[in-house]
Amino acid sequence: MELRKLSEHIWYMPFEEERDRPNLGYIKGDKLSIAVDAGHSEAHIREFYALLRKEGLPLPSLTVITHWHWDHTFAMHAANGLTIANKTTNAHILECIQKIENNGPDAFLNIGDSIRKEYSGGQEMIVIPADIVFEGSLTIDLGGCTVNILQTEAPHTDDSTLVYVCEDKTLFIGDATCPQFPHGDRDKKLANALADKIRSTGAVTCVEGHWQPVETEDTLNDLLS
Ligand SMILES: [Zn+2]
Repeated sequence: MELRKLSEHIWYMPFEEERDRPNLGYIKGDKLSIAVDAGHSEAHIREFYALLRKEGLPLPSLTVITHWHWDHTFAMHAANGLTIANKTTNAHILECIQKIENNGPDAFLNIGDSIRKEYSGGQEMIVIPADIVFEGSLTIDLGGCTVNILQTEAPHTDDSTLVYVCEDKTLFIGDATCPQFPHGDRDKKLANALADKIRSTGAVTCVEGHWQPVETEDTLNDLLS
């Protein structure tokens, strides 16, 4: 796997289908750098950090979580610096912790092949809550690069967070545009609300959780189809 540069301030480690690993985003300013999503496991985030080191990029001081799903959050315990999630995401993560305490990792290993493959090497499944919990929105000045973190309605889950990199006109959207997991519908009202939110940012490029970066128009067409 390689680290790809997307724009002046943005890099990402691409998604992988086999283990259902999402894109891990990296945004660097003059003072601070932040990551978008922690990843599926400690092994996943360690690969990401190894690629950052290879490029001479500092490890992120902050990691923003797009939504509670395991493939985006179960590496939070191994994240450098602090993690940020919205209040609903954090509540879902606390439910995951409870599930594992009650039923062990099988509670999640039973979801499917991809998570079993991710944890096939005998890695322990460790889930922890976020360090910083917000509601609504949050703006972070990375130094010459401004990041808006926006909670939004979305068809995929009830806890979506978007991460907009203003100078690069790029929006990280996690899985927000996807239907509900595993076989749910894409609720029209929620899809429209999300489309409005995406348009309101002025983003030119969108980075979805499990797809290559595309023009915002493509993302909106897919979302509203
Ligand atoms: Zn998801």
